[in-house]
Amino acid sequence: MSYTGPGFDPPQPRRSRRGPLTVALAALVPGALLGWAVYAAVGGSGGDEGSGGASASASGTPSAGASPSAGADDTKPGASASAKSPSASAPAGSGPLKGKVVVIDPGHNPGNFRHTADINRQVDIGTNRKECDTTGTATNDGYAEAEFTLDVAHRMRTLLERQGATVKLTQDADRPFGPCVDERARIGNKAKADAVVSIHADGSGTGNRGFHVILPGAVHSGAADTRAIVEPSGDLGERIAGNFVRATGSAPSNYIGGGTGLVTREDLGGLNLSTVPKVFIECGNMRDSKDAALLTSGAWRQKAAQGISDGIVGFLRG
Ligand code: ZN
Repeated sequence: MSYTGPGFDPPQPRRSRRGPLTVALAALVPGALLGWAVYAAVGGSGGDEGSGGASASASGTPSAGASPSAGADDTKPGASASAKSPSASAPAGSGPLKGKVVVIDPGHNPGNFRHTADINRQVDIGTNRKECDTTGTATNDGYAEAEFTLDVAHRMRTLLERQGATVKLTQDADRPFGPCVDERARIGNKAKADAVVSIHADGSGTGNRGFHVILPGAVHSGAADTRAIVEPSGDLGERIAGNFVRATGSAPSNYIGGGTGLVTREDLGGLNLSTVPKVFIECGNMRDSKDAALLTSGAWRQKAAQGISDGIVGFLRG
C-alpha cells in the first residue's frame, strides 16, 4: 500500500470466516476466482501454511533464518542471484508469447530511502499531483518491499521469457531511486506493452491478510485517459487473481475488495497514465506475521511469480 502515500487510510479489517467468504465470492465472481473457490471448497489451508511462522527472521536475506514452518519452503542460497542473471533466461523470440511485450514494474526501489527529497517531489498524475515514489513498506523483521518486488519480478521475467515474451523491467535497482510513478507508466506506454503488472506487497495492519489486484478505473482528466484500458485491464487482473489463488493457495484479501481479490482505483498515477493494459498486485501484507512468513519464503515467491505470469500468459493468449 505504501505507494498510496500518507493520506490513504485503509479500510478497517473484516475478519471473514472462510465459509461466508466463499459463498460471497462465488456469487460475485463465479469465473474469475474459480481456483480460490475450489481451494476453499476442499477446505484447503494452503494460504495458512506459514502459520506459526511469526518468528521468521528474514532480515534482508531471504535464505537466512526462516521459521521452522517456512524452512522447507525457503529459497536456496543463490537462487535469487541466478534468477537475476540475464543468462538464466532463455532468449525471447520463440514460444507462444513470441512478439508479445510484457513490462514488469517492481514497486519502489531499494535506494529510495536514501533519496527522500527526490522521491517526495510531486509529479502530475492527470487527476492530481502526487509523490514521485515512496520507500515502500517492510516486514517487521526488515525484509523490504523493494527487495520483494525485485525478486518476484526476476522470477516472472524468467518464466515469461521461457514463453517467448520480450520482458522489460521499469527498474532493476540499477538507478539510485525511482523511477517516479509517471515515468513508470510511460515506460510501459513507450514499450507498447501488451501487458504491464506492477508488483507490490502491502503495509496494512496485523490480521489483514491476503492479496488483491488493483484495476484502473475510468479516468479522463489532464494527461490521464484510461477509458480504453479499463476493460482489457480488468480481464488481465481477473486472470492474475484466479491464477494467483491457484498457484499460491493464498486467499483474496480479507480487508479490501469484499473477498473478490479485486479493487478498482482512480488515484494511482501508475494506472492513470497508462495507455496499455495494466494492473497492480499487492501480493500480501508484509505487516502481518503470517503473510510475512509467506512473503519472505523464496518458494512462495516462486509460486507468486508463477501465478502472476500464468495470468499474463492467459491474457495474452486469449
Ligand atoms: Zn508498494
